[in-house]
Amino acid sequence: MDLTHDEILEKLSNGEIRLFEIEKYTKTANEAADIRREFIENESGVKLEHISKYSIDMTDTAKKNIENPIGTVQIPVGVVGPLVVNCDDDEDINTYVPMATTEGALLASVNRGCSAIRKAGGCNVSILANQMTRAPVIKTKSTKDAAKLKRWINEHFNEIKKVAETTTSHGKLLKIDPIAIVGRYAYPRFVYDSGDSMGMNMVTIATEKALEFIEGENDIDVIALSGNFCVDKKPAAVNMIEGRGKSVVAEVVIPKEIVEKTLKTTTEEIVEVNYSKNLLGSAIAGSYGYNAHFANMVAALFIATGQDPAHVTEASLGITTAENDDGDLYFSVTLPDLPVATVGGGTRLETASESLNLIGAKGSGKVERFASIVAGIVLAGELSLIGALAAGHLASAHQKLGR
Ligand code: NAP
Repeated sequence: MDLTHDEILEKLSNGEIRLFEIEKYTKTANEAADIRREFIENESGVKLEHISKYSIDMTDTAKKNIENPIGTVQIPVGVVGPLVVNCDDDEDINTYVPMATTEGALLASVNRGCSAIRKAGGCNVSILANQMTRAPVIKTKSTKDAAKLKRWINEHFNEIKKVAETTTSHGKLLKIDPIAIVGRYAYPRFVYDSGDSMGMNMVTIATEKALEFIEGENDIDVIALSGNFCVDKKPAAVNMIEGRGKSVVAEVVIPKEIVEKTLKTTTEEIVEVNYSKNLLGSAIAGSYGYNAHFANMVAALFIATGQDPAHVTEASLGITTAENDDGDLYFSVTLPDLPVATVGGGTRLETASESLNLIGAKGSGKVERFASIVAGIVLAGELSLIGALAAGHLASAHQKLGR
């Protein structure tokens, strides 16, 4: 039933219509968002002038990406690059890359890293794995039963895989491993190849189906579909060791002269800063982020391209290495846990689509290219910041020693 703008506002005010029901009474989702925003403005007395200005269509957005929409927020977006990546099998990458952030100096720094990589002939990136996970928690009657369940799951993997894959035409159940046991609780970690999607919805639906089958064949109680051994949106050692999402490594060799000219420091200084800060400093902190600032580059890329920003918690895991190759700088980043997509989730949003198109990474068959670009940009950001710290260290050391 369509109601007029004013009728809906009135019914919202007297509680006859609830905030999430407005779409039922309007012709378009955009109109519903406008009315909802006006209601909130009236209730709060705060004018939402900028939140009200947007060009995306709320029709699918309100179905797939958000509830109770009232508009959008605007994050500044800039470009860095070109980033040059020499890929494994795919065609090489040479592209400007959009990054959305409010952190001044980030793009300038990443841009400098891209420049050093370009002058060095590009970086190499390899995709090591594509494995999205879901790990439920299952209660059994005793520790013996938990061990029995573990054996049963291992013995019936092929049947479980068949059942799980009935829910998806793209997802593939690769393994159920590790299966952790704590007392009489079992935590089987279901690991899927999620194709070009990030895959969390996909693997949640598939694992639920698999659990119905396992529960039908065993005397067990599924306590929760996610038992926190997945591990989704939290930093964790299991993700660092086993990998989650796309696992990627990137490396570059920067000739001595480019280190000195572009990064304004030396290979020795960079190696020392990386060793003492990223490796030793992270070790004494008990950190899983043996890096300077993966999260900065990942967050800005995720926001620009419609990835789930909560996954920055995981994607910030990883290790930066720096070595002296006869005066040249060997530099690498390892990202074991990069949940990224070129289909599904927020990648369908109009602004995200434009950003993905800009880097040639929209749609099916593009996720490896996208993951490679993320890794290349992370490499550029690490290189530049470690370089800046090394130059600062050198400057202060000179200042101190020179006096
Ligand atoms: P999705 O939006 O459901 O998209 C994935 C689906 O796209 C796949 O299941 C697949 O359908 C289809 N698809 C089409 N072409 C594909 C291709 N080339 N490769 C792979 N799949 C293709 O989302 P999702 O990626 O599974 O999950 C992302 C969303 O999950 C995000 O919005 C995120 O915020 C949210 N999320 C959910 C949870 C959760 O627990 N449910 C947790 C964290 C985040 P078929 O499976 O039918 O083949």
